[in-house]
Amino acid sequence: MSRSPTIHSRKYSPSKSSTWLNCPLSTLLNDGSSQETNPQAEFGTQCHELGAALIGQSLNLIDYDSELKPIEEVIKDLDMYSEEMQEIADGYADFVIQTIEFDKKRTDTEPLIVIEQHLDMDFDDDAGGTLDCGIISSLGGGTLTVIDLKTGRTPVYAFDSESGLFNSQLGIYALYFYKSYKDLYPIKKIRLVIYQPVINNTNDYEMPIEELLQFESNVLVPAVKRTKVENPEAHPGKYCRYCAGKAICAKRAEANKLVMQALKKPVSTMIDADIEALLPHLDEVIQYAKDVMEFAIKKALNGHKWSKYKLVHTKGSRKITDEEGVIKACEQVGIDPYATKKVAGITELTKRIGKSKVDALIGAYINMQLGSLVLVPKSDPREEANIIEEGDK
Ligand code: SF4
Repeated sequence: MSRSPTIHSRKYSPSKSSTWLNCPLSTLLNDGSSQETNPQAEFGTQCHELGAALIGQSLNLIDYDSELKPIEEVIKDLDMYSEEMQEIADGYADFVIQTIEFDKKRTDTEPLIVIEQHLDMDFDDDAGGTLDCGIISSLGGGTLTVIDLKTGRTPVYAFDSESGLFNSQLGIYALYFYKSYKDLYPIKKIRLVIYQPVINNTNDYEMPIEELLQFESNVLVPAVKRTKVENPEAHPGKYCRYCAGKAICAKRAEANKLVMQALKKPVSTMIDADIEALLPHLDEVIQYAKDVMEFAIKKALNGHKWSKYKLVHTKGSRKITDEEGVIKACEQVGIDPYATKKVAGITELTKRIGKSKVDALIGAYINMQLGSLVLVPKSDPREEANIIEEGDK
């Protein structure tokens, strides 16, 4: 096994490939100058690190790049570590190990396994990315599997039935994983797997190697060419939200304006058919508005004055700045300064009790709390909520 630091290219990041494969202009804007991280992305990065360490430990893989750290040491370095992270990383590691075991049982050779493997991509000096997990087994004459851990809540698919294409991020990883090892291992079949436990969305797509090579020559190479012309074109789409130019791109603004103009009548007289027509565009319109607002706030925080807007504080809340002082002051007058004892979370209790005994011991006191309701396209993998209609009450 080899594990390298997570390095993603700026312009041609595989995770943003749905953007640059569709919109050539985005590569000019995604030049890295506005690259920033956010808590969700950082959580994802740390979760991958923990998952990789768990897989490495379970399979006793050898890391040629660095010394394998004990899990406790890895956790110490994760400043966003939480029960949720542990649960996702445990599930991911189990899933990868089960996949490897499945392939092993059906063949008589050891599969090749790479975890967090950096792959250079030959279509640009800046192109490259880190593959979460790659497996090459002799199953079916040679099967290359790419597993991608997703920690977000937006459903991701290995195959997009809307566009009729497989997930380009996974496709690019599979292609360059294939190119790295094709001379050593025969490969006939490609399997792309999304593991997205937070919304119970694990899905995969299988194809012959020829389909992947056609993607390279018919989609990838021509798309890269289109980004290297003097004035690359802009093609807005639902991927704009991942583009560095999302708040300032005139083409995106124009596309969203057109959606609202298409309504042609006051919102108060909209019928169901109007709403049905608008629904598929609303996510992008709302996201666009959020992106512009976020941009405007950031600029204001950097000192810019918008002519008709100002920054104000939302309602403040009181905060204890000296806990020791509060404890002393309360105890001096006989008041208990401590909060009531709280029951630990289910993940923590599971750890203390042991997975196999949880149900028997406390199962009767636990039930599933449903989250709030959101409207999503029918293709979303989550089960439809059971709603009691007004008249049925
Ligand atoms: S915001 Fe959208 S249209 Fe504009 S450059 Fe980025 S991806 Fe292209």
